[in-house]
Amino acid sequence: MDLYAASPEELEALLGSWGEPRFRTGQLRRWLYERGVASFEAMTDLPASLRRRLGDEASLGTLSVVAEQHSRDGTRKRLYRLATGERIESVLMPYGDGRNTACVSTQAGCAMGCTFCATGQMGFARSLTSAQILEQALRFSGELKAEGKRLSNVVLMGMGEPFHNYEASLDAIRRLMSDLGIGARHITVSTVGLVPQIRRFAAEGLQVGLAVSLHAATDAQRSELMPVNRRWPLAELMAACRDYTEASGRRVTFEWALIEGVNDDVRAARRLARLLRGVPAHVNLIPLNPTRGYGGAPTGSGGAERFVATLAEAHVPATVRVRRGIDIDAGCGQLYASVKA
Ligand code: SAH
Ligand code: SF4
Repeated sequence: MDLYAASPEELEALLGSWGEPRFRTGQLRRWLYERGVASFEAMTDLPASLRRRLGDEASLGTLSVVAEQHSRDGTRKRLYRLATGERIESVLMPYGDGRNTACVSTQAGCAMGCTFCATGQMGFARSLTSAQILEQALRFSGELKAEGKRLSNVVLMGMGEPFHNYEASLDAIRRLMSDLGIGARHITVSTVGLVPQIRRFAAEGLQVGLAVSLHAATDAQRSELMPVNRRWPLAELMAACRDYTEASGRRVTFEWALIEGVNDDVRAARRLARLLRGVPAHVNLIPLNPTRGYGGAPTGSGGAERFVATLAEAHVPATVRVRRGIDIDAGCGQLYASVKA
């Protein structure tokens, strides 16, 4: 039995069936979530006999580490193997202001087929369970605790499309809030733009941040980069985004990978500004991470500045993101791609 997959009631039933008093459930849950320890031996206020039995009959998660890389900027990137064999990645990004953000995967591979994305190039393998999504955040959270720090933010922005695994992603989000104490406003879910799920998510009434991967402001170009645009074109996507801002009271973040000579000139920036008219928005610009299966190159810093300035003229707030962990393959799906190679 994977303890991270068990509800509080199931934990209580398990311990009760072993003749343990009820308060043990609370004790165990504190070790699992508040401390986030990775072994039963570390649960020092549980009787040794109980720790042994837990070790024999239960497990702390199901992910095993295959590879890990630490970057000079403090970024930690980890490749896990699922019990079923597939690989997934998670990344921890510490920021100078004390925030620690975990980026977690929701699927092994991805079915959406975005041409520039290493995960999309792999194709779809399987969806993660909510416990597997939670476990990625929990591992970082426990490690940070041991260092006297705290996991402050989680983004569902690793491998996979969260809204193509809607139930598990939503359950993981709820558990990040209830089990790890991370506020909704400190959680962001990133989507390729699945319109019905954006609307469904708006109706959940959460204050969770929504990021939408845009990358192009015309249907022709977006459909070329992101096949999903053929099913849910820009007009419908933007309408759903507007509804999300009304339901959540939050701005939507739009992700834009700057690709040299493709979507990074002044005209593209103006088109984007026009598309975002009337939508409370923030644009995140990320110079493309080059991948094996796509020929594009990242826009240089001059081009990125010009893009930001053009958006600013139209009163669209934008930030150029530094590519975290650029020395460690920390683009979506890229650690796996490089380990495999
Ligand atoms: N499937 C979701 C979340 C995972 S991808 C989504 O698409 O939003 C996380 C982000 O990384 C997305 O904004 C995606 O467009 C972006 N991305 C993927 N490959 C990239 C690359 N090679 N360079 C820069 N950004 C990339
Ligand atoms: Fe999937 Fe997101 Fe990559 Fe597109 S960008 S293939 S949706 S992981």
